[in-house]
Amino acid sequence: MATTLPGLGFLPTFDSVAEERLHRKQRLAASFRLFGKFGFDEGVAGHITVRDPEHLDRFWVNPFGMNFKHIGVSDLICVDHSGDVVEGDAMVNRAAFAIHSQVHAGRPDVVAAAHSHSLHGKAWSSLGRLLDPITQDACAFFEDHSLFDDFTGVVLDLEEGKRISAALGTNKAVILRNHGLLTVGHSVDAAVWSFITMDRSCQAQLLAEAAGTPVLIDADMARKTQVQTGSPAACYLSFQPLWDMIAREQPDLFE
Ligand SMILES: [Zn+2]
Repeated sequence: MATTLPGLGFLPTFDSVAEERLHRKQRLAASFRLFGKFGFDEGVAGHITVRDPEHLDRFWVNPFGMNFKHIGVSDLICVDHSGDVVEGDAMVNRAAFAIHSQVHAGRPDVVAAAHSHSLHGKAWSSLGRLLDPITQDACAFFEDHSLFDDFTGVVLDLEEGKRISAALGTNKAVILRNHGLLTVGHSVDAAVWSFITMDRSCQAQLLAEAAGTPVLIDADMARKTQVQTGSPAACYLSFQPLWDMIAREQPDLFE
């Protein structure tokens, strides 16, 4: 379990696996509400997954075709390693299974993964470039994201998921060229925070380059700042104000 990994002592601990599962599902439902609020929905595209704390080869995900803004805890479905829905009454998005099953399999340390066709992420992805350290916030991704430098249509094939997982490597994010962003974390909180701030860093670099030539933060300083703003603890912490807001504003997400 993530809570036993070194350096992750800040994560909450639980008395039972049922308690931990409920916690993960609540964070996941809240994250869909946040994705909806940030406008990250695009038709039926987009998925956030969290690994089951007991059955480590299963993950919880949004039901196919349901608006992010309507998702509550009881709507989430659990999918096993062969793509079968083992809990919940809905279909799984085939692309969600193809990508996320391989990311979870390839990264045992990862608890959650987030992907959507957010506007600034997909605009940036079309450039086929990594983000530069042009702001303090963008430094969170310095030497901690990669590029999947290919596009082969909608990802429905497990082999494509494996290639994306390989491109992600040990990083916390990968830019899928001509597609969008994918982020991972040791908690739902961190994966979702990284997605939100990465989309904004894409927006910032698009704005800055449209206006001129941004000054880059030098590599040594970017590396130091990465630890401050992009560590698992920093990403987890940065999510908490969003959690507080959405939990208070939309308490039906717990249903
Ligand atoms: Zn996609």
